[in-house]
Amino acid sequence: MTWPDIAVVGGGLLGRCLAWRASRAGLTAALYDAASSLGEGSAAWAAAGMITPAAEAVDADAEIVAMGRHSLTLWPQWLDQLPHPVFYRDTGTLLLWHREDAGEARRFKKMLTERDAQAQLVHVDAARLDELEPALGARFSQALHLPGEAQVDNRALLEAVAVALEEANVPCHWQTFIPDDALPDAGVVVDCRGMGACRDWPQLRGVRGEIARLDAPEIDLRHMLRLLHPRYSVYVVPRAEGKLVVGATSIESDDRSAVSVRGALELLSSAFSMLPALAEARILEFATQVRPALPDNQPAFQYDRERRLLRINGLYRHGFLLTPTVVEEALAVLSGHGEMESTGRWSCLRRVHSGSRNLR
Ligand SMILES: Cc1cc2nc3c(=O)[nH]c(=O)nc-3n(C[C@H](O)[C@H](O)[C@H](O)COP(=O)(O)OP(=O)(O)OC[C@H]3O[C@@H](n4cnc5c(N)ncnc54)[C@H](O)[C@@H]3O)c2cc1C
Repeated sequence: MTWPDIAVVGGGLLGRCLAWRASRAGLTAALYDAASSLGEGSAAWAAAGMITPAAEAVDADAEIVAMGRHSLTLWPQWLDQLPHPVFYRDTGTLLLWHREDAGEARRFKKMLTERDAQAQLVHVDAARLDELEPALGARFSQALHLPGEAQVDNRALLEAVAVALEEANVPCHWQTFIPDDALPDAGVVVDCRGMGACRDWPQLRGVRGEIARLDAPEIDLRHMLRLLHPRYSVYVVPRAEGKLVVGATSIESDDRSAVSVRGALELLSSAFSMLPALAEARILEFATQVRPALPDNQPAFQYDRERRLLRINGLYRHGFLLTPTVVEEALAVLSGHGEMESTGRWSCLRRVHSGSRNLR
């Protein structure tokens, strides 16, 4: 039996996109995931799907912001190549704050200037805000608009990529748990197991995130909303057909148990403080998942030459922001075959180790 060029273990966000792009690039690929093709075992299943480099700049390193900006140019090309349309909107982010939190808006502006030279930050007065986002009513006297930032429907994307893989005849072994010591045969195995790789990558930690999904057909929300607040940086993301995603808590824990009362109250009361029209929205679901994070909250590549194993992990809260850029870099590394060196374009992805089993 002939081996595929690459076997991707973990078909959440990164792994399934990598297998798809690899097959489009002419590599033979196979994919393995412990969950079904829906992706319900992944952090991506619970995510809000925001691709918002500037809005993330307050908490992220400048290189993450630059990688996110590059991803923003790649996502529309990727989505055009999928077999069916996936909801994607790039009207940008509106940043809102309550009067007593004006200091948060000043802090945000300062950080953004330092970390994202390309960011367009538009100050919006009450009249313009009413034109941009009538659903807010006259609640806020000003806002900041980050035009061009985008979001993609996470679950529709996972589904569409699964269909694309099937159409490309990429063998997808769903509901197939791969133990650490039984990797599939392939030219190179790419480990994209997210938190599933925590035994092999001991520095990996989980950051629990809780979200709510709402049905609010009467609210015509046109932008992603983010609340600038010293404790509760909640967002509301509009989806197709009146659905909204409200997220997300960020708790240093790998606990995937159901959403806590505190989490639910924080999410819904903060969102309600921005958008009182949410009072009549219906709660469809609360979901919890764990973001895979490394100590510096940046993604990393590790390569074990002896085992021909490339590990990619640490997408943290930036999986949608970074996946096209990380996949592009991974394909460049994989096409180097024997050498497996990073292209050096993104310094945080340069941690390519060529030792044997010692990946720590
Ligand atoms: C509440 C929440 C909101 C978020 N919002 C955003 C956002 O708006 N924007 C953004 O950019 N990011 C967001 N994220 C982060 C994003 O979801 C993650 O960064 C991303 O999903 C990580 O991708 P991954 O492929 O590395 O891991 P995952 O998506 O978790 O996929 C890992 C896959 O590996 C599989 N697996 C694990 N172990 C095994 C095994 N032994 N054998 C086979 N398969 C295995 C799992 O089943 C899973 O499908 C959010 C995350 C959460 C939790």
